[in-house]
Amino acid sequence: MQGLMQDWPLLIHRIIDHAATQHGSREVVSRSLEGPIHRTDYATVRQRALRGAKRLAREGIKPGDRVATMAWNSWRHLEAWYAIAGVGAIYHTINPRLFAEQIVWIVNHAEDRLLMLDACFVPLVEKLAPALASIERYIILTDAAHMPQTSLRNAVAYEDWLAEADDDFVWAAVDERAAAGLCYTSGTTGNPKGVLYTHRSNVLHAMQVCMTGSIGPSANDSVLCVVPMFHANAWALPFALPMCGAKMVMPGSRLDGASVYDLIEAEGVTHSAGVPTVWLMLLDYMTTNAKKPSTLRQVAVGGAACPRAMIVRFERDFGVDVFHAWGMTESSPVGTTGTIKPAVGKLEGESLYDQKAKQGSAPFGVEMIITSDDGVRLPWDGATVGRLKVRGPCIAAGYYRQETQILDAEGFFDTGDIAAIEADGTMRITDRAKDVIKSGGEWISSIEIENLAMSHPDVAEAAVIGVPHEKWTERPLLAVVPARGSARDPAGLLRFFEGRIAKWWIPGDVQYLEEIPHTAAGKINKVRLREIFRDYRLPDDGV
Ligand code: AMP
Repeated sequence: MQGLMQDWPLLIHRIIDHAATQHGSREVVSRSLEGPIHRTDYATVRQRALRGAKRLAREGIKPGDRVATMAWNSWRHLEAWYAIAGVGAIYHTINPRLFAEQIVWIVNHAEDRLLMLDACFVPLVEKLAPALASIERYIILTDAAHMPQTSLRNAVAYEDWLAEADDDFVWAAVDERAAAGLCYTSGTTGNPKGVLYTHRSNVLHAMQVCMTGSIGPSANDSVLCVVPMFHANAWALPFALPMCGAKMVMPGSRLDGASVYDLIEAEGVTHSAGVPTVWLMLLDYMTTNAKKPSTLRQVAVGGAACPRAMIVRFERDFGVDVFHAWGMTESSPVGTTGTIKPAVGKLEGESLYDQKAKQGSAPFGVEMIITSDDGVRLPWDGATVGRLKVRGPCIAAGYYRQETQILDAEGFFDTGDIAAIEADGTMRITDRAKDVIKSGGEWISSIEIENLAMSHPDVAEAAVIGVPHEKWTERPLLAVVPARGSARDPAGLLRFFEGRIAKWWIPGDVQYLEEIPHTAAGKINKVRLREIFRDYRLPDDGV
């Protein structure tokens, strides 16, 4: 027997409708690319998104069409997402930090019809435009006064374009399983893979993110959306914040420590979310300039392992709680969160930091398992490590326009990460499968060594890779960016590891670098690091 409840499709436009009626005057504050701080609210964002949707329809955009955005976080980018999804089309976020060939490849693969871009990306896109055959029109996210001279086809200033429509529009009534968003994973090898989110998966995922114990924003919070909208849906914040009525603060292109700190102070920011590299800049700025945030209570850190030393610094030096999260483009992206369960709540000091350095537990809607390479399930004992696999309504079932089967027989997606899970469900990532160091037949966790290295006062950033070794097959090499003004003492640094990790995990050597290479998504670029040290031999190799 069927139940007798309403069928209310989970469509993205319902989020902004809700925000406009329940939290209409709640602010959306952006650092505009033109310079000044811009203020709007959810009611206005909705109104302008309706105009945008109507204007897109007049442009000939139909349900299922792809409309690309290449933009920093701002109110215009937010309106564009709701307008595109609201006309039934698909917002396709492009990471401007990708290599030019990758951008060309994904625009052509997606067959985007329009590209909405910030004015600062016009020079870059002008160079690529001859190869972007599907783009019919370029909409520059600015007003007439700031519109640059450009050769881009049918280029128009967003504000002029928007002014050509009113907000008398009815959102497209698409199926909740219809595609709404597209984001290509920035893989370091092979062609990028398109993850195609649905209205339903985005709404459910935003609800997961809103749950208490997850990032859990509320109407009383002011949230700085540091994570860019071109990184895996900005961790659902553009949906979760309007859903709960939190004030939304958008940093534009300025993610340096001083700019982020100033925005936090000016807008009474209580929560934020971003990758570790951004937080390193903020911590560095606050330490060097003896600043302390007055309203910031919590930062969510994810996208790459949050170094334990970062948790200690935020909490001990600045009184800011760190919330570690793990996820990937394919999981919408939030997969696990550092939810504090009762047993964890009892922990204090160092043991609490140890716990928070783990990637956390799965919210409702994410099932996790670990398996051996041949698919046998492994125990949740906190020690056994295996391939991390996930299943749920917000996890990719396939890639856009690719035939490859990506789920196993039980519907689990192999994340490519190696992890251990404890009996209570807490997960700890030890490595990316392709970064695992195999020494003497055993696995060494590069993340654990990096964590420890980062807790040394002479280390600003650390990365560990495996390098070939005649006797042990592979041994860890530690690459370090020294902390400002610190001495370079490789032997002292290696001594620091003694008694803290197994002897055979201690790196074979330390090499100093000016900077650690990062990928377009802000992760340590281990492929590049391995290239840098391709001809390197450890001092004890062949001895
Ligand atoms: P992306 O799809 O580009 O967001 O990359 C996802 C990958 O980033 C994951 O598969 C992990 O390897 C890594 N990652 C994300 N969050 C974390 C985290 N908290 N700890 C360790 N690795 C992470």
